[in-house]
Amino acid sequence: MRPPKGQTLDTYPKTWTKAQKTRASLGLHPTMGEPYLDADNESPHVGPTCGDCRHLQSHGRYWKCALIPMTFGRGTDLALSWDACRMWQPVDATQSDV
Ligand code: SF4
Repeated sequence: MRPPKGQTLDTYPKTWTKAQKTRASLGLHPTMGEPYLDADNESPHVGPTCGDCRHLQSHGRYWKCALIPMTFGRGTDLALSWDACRMWQPVDATQSDV
């Protein structure tokens, strides 16, 4: 899932922070703030997601990215279904691939 870019901030989910909405409106990954892995592909998108990424971390019922400094706020939450950002790596990637 990739939120459409160029929308007014109030069209994005109410649970998102203003920073997440702003990034999405710019066409960036809402939490990472990086371009998408496949930056040229608009939704609907079929490809890697945060749920397929080796940097994904579970924190209770919330999902976070290991590349983003941990907070307990929703501004660092992400969803498994979100399209991957350009920092994505497959789950089986070894450290030498980084
Ligand atoms: S694709 Fe991977 S690196 Fe990018 S935000 Fe999602 S979990 Fe983090």
